[in-house]
Amino acid sequence: MEVVWGARTDRGRVRQSNEDAYLTEPPVFLVADGMGGYRSGETASAAVVEQFTDAPENDVTPEWVSGCLAKANVRIRDGAGGGTTAAGAVLVDRDGQPYWLVFNIGDSRVYLRSGQELRQISVDHSVVQELVDAGKLTPQRARLHPERHIVTRAVGTPGPPQPDFWLVPRELGDRLLLCSDGVCGELDDDVIADALRRPEPAQEVAEALTTLALRAGGRDNITCVVIDVLPSAGEPARSADDPDETRPRHRPDVGGFRS
Ligand code: MN
Repeated sequence: MEVVWGARTDRGRVRQSNEDAYLTEPPVFLVADGMGGYRSGETASAAVVEQFTDAPENDVTPEWVSGCLAKANVRIRDGAGGGTTAAGAVLVDRDGQPYWLVFNIGDSRVYLRSGQELRQISVDHSVVQELVDAGKLTPQRARLHPERHIVTRAVGTPGPPQPDFWLVPRELGDRLLLCSDGVCGELDDDVIADALRRPEPAQEVAEALTTLALRAGGRDNITCVVIDVLPSAGEPARSADDPDETRPRHRPDVGGFRS
């Protein structure tokens, strides 16, 4: 398996600065959406990105991720203040098998397109997600709710950050999307799914999603990281999209766990 990626960030059409940041340095991919206004939002998201560089090649654990977030948290609180989300996916091996270690704090998201199916892996830490969980709001209406930008967890708050984790088998043909709420706040999941089904390379898909979010209003900073799992040279090019794939695809759902 070979991992290929593309990324794009854009200030959007309304905000004065871009407080989003991203990292594409295997084994770590992440998106951070800084909050707190110019300077503090920008330095908060940058602090998270810096903390995750130089990750151990095959050794990233939830504890390592939590440690990076805790160090970023201290830097933010001792520095310019503000806060940031962090949503990421790390290439890990467990017992010789490939997995994504997905983590999230705040309302940036990680989606997985497997075959034609799109699944949101991360669960937002937000006021509207709590209303959705309580059955008081539909996900469609959540995108229009006046409190849609309010997160219930972030990096840069008092006390250690509390990320959630998921361990998801990594398979040939997987396509992951990491994005800030400037993408999923502007676009329906159906639109995101259609874009992720396009056969174009990851970079073009990241550009296309950014263009769609801009056209939809671009009211927030926009960041997309798209990651493809492709066959390496010499490996058979079978993927989830193969029409002759008759074997039922079973992706064991390794439950989320909380640090
Ligand atoms: Mn945002």
